[in-house]
Amino acid sequence: MTYDLVIKNGTVIDPAQGVHGKKDIAVAGGKIAAIEDYVSDGDTHDVIEADGLLVTPGLVDLHVHVWWGVAHLAIEADPVCVYRGVTTAIDAGSSGANTIAGFNRYVMDAVDTRVLAFLHISGMGQLDNDIGELEDIRWARVERAVEAAKLHSDVIVGIKVRLTDNIVGNNDMVALDRALEAGAELNKPVMIHIGGSVHDFDEFLEKLRPGDIVTHSFTGNPHGILDNNNKVIDAAWDAMKRGIIFDVGHGAGSFSFPVAEACQEQGLGPGTVSSDVHRYNLRGPVYDLMTTLSKYIYLGYSIDDALALGTSKPSAAVGLPDHIGTLTVGADADIAVAQLREGPVTFTDAKGNERAGNQLLVPVETLRKGRRFNPIHSTHPDLIGQPHKH
Ligand SMILES: [Zn+2]
Repeated sequence: MTYDLVIKNGTVIDPAQGVHGKKDIAVAGGKIAAIEDYVSDGDTHDVIEADGLLVTPGLVDLHVHVWWGVAHLAIEADPVCVYRGVTTAIDAGSSGANTIAGFNRYVMDAVDTRVLAFLHISGMGQLDNDIGELEDIRWARVERAVEAAKLHSDVIVGIKVRLTDNIVGNNDMVALDRALEAGAELNKPVMIHIGGSVHDFDEFLEKLRPGDIVTHSFTGNPHGILDNNNKVIDAAWDAMKRGIIFDVGHGAGSFSFPVAEACQEQGLGPGTVSSDVHRYNLRGPVYDLMTTLSKYIYLGYSIDDALALGTSKPSAAVGLPDHIGTLTVGADADIAVAQLREGPVTFTDAKGNERAGNQLLVPVETLRKGRRFNPIHSTHPDLIGQPHKH
């Protein structure tokens, strides 16, 4: 059997299948051709020697912003995604009904990362940093959103709405209602962005349906998941039991170590870990999804459990086909090769709180449909080199 590429001697971790062990992976025609204890590389053109490295499904980042040049906060997709282990990236509301056609043609169709999206209930998406997209609630038009989501149903995974007061003013409840109406019509999840809203978080949670997603779940901003005594609010426990998903969505202002730690101590962990990487956090504290997952290894998760939160769990959360977020013979060869770097590393949350960690996942090489993407070949100067403090 002749393959195009073989990844040799890596420690393959595929949480969805409970796989953790030394294996070889063969790639042919952009697909995974074999996952075996030993694959001969005799006739193979290309070999990645992965001894001492981790080989995992290509990561799935549930929350990014990559409508570059249009959404104010967006960055280019490939340098931070496919060059850094993420083969599937889900843009969280950078585009709305007015701009999804352009996003689809000029980004999704043009980049190497598989980019999908939550469509913003605001037609403008997240266009501007100073003028909130739902301060004028007329931008939230259910029919337009539903129509656009149906037209682009191959790339739209759900509806996004941001509920912070400087974005929606006093319109948070009506904005949420409209997002949920669109989500119900489309039979797709709604992702809500929380923190600093006019109304309390429990009022939002009560309205969510099973499968809806809260992003920025561990924000240190007001109206979050903890009460004044640092206890997880009852509504969050109820929501968790009903199947609402608590996503991290780290971002520039929305992940707090003290909040995440209090939640962990009380037994409430995230359902998915996403980066919310964008231009205001790319150079820290987020950097990329592997750094965000490393923060959960720091918080006590096994590597396998942390990787599940950035592969199979986000894939399932938005109903992607079963083979995305796991390693399956016959599926696209979307594979991340990473180093678990041992040694002191300082992790910083969105509030500037620091934690001294000892393990950092670092992207070494990514395969997307069998094509190789190495971070040192990334064209983005800000992404070359090691940004972390040691
Ligand atoms: Zn975001």
